[in-house]
Amino acid sequence: MQEYKVAIIGGGPSGMMAAIKAAQELGPKNVCILEKNDALGKKLLMTGGGRCNITNNTPIHDQLNYYKKNKNFLKHALYTLPQEKLLAIFEEKDLEFHQEDNKRVFPDSKDAQDILDVLLEYLEELEVDIHTSCPINANDIEHELNEKMEPVFLIENDKISLNASKIIVSTGGITYPSTGSTGDGYRIASKMNHSITDIKPGLVSFDVDDFLLRSLSGLTLSNVELSFKDKKKKISVDGDVLISHFGLTGPAVIDLSNPLIEKSKFSILDDDLNLKDDEELEELELFTDKITIDFCPDLTEEDIKAKITEDTPNKGTLKIKNYMKKFLTNNFIDYFLMKLDISPNKTMANITKKDKNKLAENLKRHSIEIESLEMGLAKVTIGGVKSKEIDSKTLQSRFVDGLYFAGEVLEVAGPTGGYNLQIAFSTGYLAGQEAANSLK
Ligand SMILES: Cc1cc2nc3c(=O)[nH]c(=O)nc-3n(C[C@H](O)[C@H](O)[C@H](O)COP(=O)(O)OP(=O)(O)OC[C@H]3O[C@@H](n4cnc5c(N)ncnc54)[C@H](O)[C@@H]3O)c2cc1C
Repeated sequence: MQEYKVAIIGGGPSGMMAAIKAAQELGPKNVCILEKNDALGKKLLMTGGGRCNITNNTPIHDQLNYYKKNKNFLKHALYTLPQEKLLAIFEEKDLEFHQEDNKRVFPDSKDAQDILDVLLEYLEELEVDIHTSCPINANDIEHELNEKMEPVFLIENDKISLNASKIIVSTGGITYPSTGSTGDGYRIASKMNHSITDIKPGLVSFDVDDFLLRSLSGLTLSNVELSFKDKKKKISVDGDVLISHFGLTGPAVIDLSNPLIEKSKFSILDDDLNLKDDEELEELELFTDKITIDFCPDLTEEDIKAKITEDTPNKGTLKIKNYMKKFLTNNFIDYFLMKLDISPNKTMANITKKDKNKLAENLKRHSIEIESLEMGLAKVTIGGVKSKEIDSKTLQSRFVDGLYFAGEVLEVAGPTGGYNLQIAFSTGYLAGQEAANSLK
């Protein structure tokens, strides 16, 4: 049986960072990573479309506002490893970074492989043992007292047999399961008496049951405002919407999905913490299935009506489909007018008051019904191991001495823009540091 001071289950960004920090504190051969896949960091390589949006330069105190009830839980981790300190770890190995729109940070090489290579270089230098193709299930772990009456974890299955004084669970969420994150961490946590909150896909695209809309696949609706109604309040985001073969995707859709899903009351897991079957997943109810596109966020409905009235006498022979280029992307106009039941070849001279009102109303509030969530493409999991049951200063379980959690397996999830990798790295770093320091 192999012996380690710290064993880390899951070799994604949070697990690798936890291993690096723990090994820096404890020295060589004291730390191991147990990874289900045949290589570490499979999801990391896909981040930012392969370019890795590693973090976001929004100040930490502003970032914390995104996490509402988990604000205090994340505070210590994010301040322990803020953006500058995270980037410095990579800069020490000669990687350079730049900032793009919305304060998103990428490596200059625009290659996620470079981020992974640096992490692997540290792990090798620090002599962290890496056991790949080594999935650990809840029943493989026993928590006992050794002969010195110290708590110890025994991890045993047909791939590995080891004991460790501390374990860090960094198995990720349950979305994008092809990368290895299949919810095993929830079952491990639950076996150790932890509660798992409702689990939902986050940063996700929407399926829309509208063949004609979907036939416009590839079209971008630029700089629109996307929203849904929460009682009388409008929850909105600005950005681009991309029409795809299944419905709607693109930055604005993905950004709006988290607040919409957070308000929806469902879990994609059954009582045994396994993914529900397809039939049950299809029946999940969203908070609302109606989202609204505002194509002219800078104009009011009255401005649009006035503009159409003003333009009508001069443009009497102009067809409405050509006039609408003022407001809409060319290839979207026929679809838009068809939905409004207005002939695209109608001339502006023949526009009725009713047409004008319909156009203005729909340019401001074009309603689209969501059929379901495009679950397979969800970028994060919303929900996880309940944060109240974990000490935010150390990320150690409040129930089991020596058990730590890091990364997406936790309850917290961030918006798009580099926030989720920052959470993974910061929580990994804190868990690794605290697990190691508790042994010194
Ligand atoms: C397509 C895509 C693009 C993204 N782009 C960005 C981006 O640009 N910026 C950003 O901030 N975030 C991005 N994210 C989110 C980000 O990748 C995740 O939040 C982050 O990877 C979470 O890190 P983690 O270490 O907690 O989990 P993961 O990266 O999921 O790693 C968990 C690891 O644990 C292993 N594992 C699971 N179960 C077991 C088990 N039982 N035994 C052993 N090992 C196990 C898995 O195989 C995996 O290697 C993106 C996500 C996706 C899917």
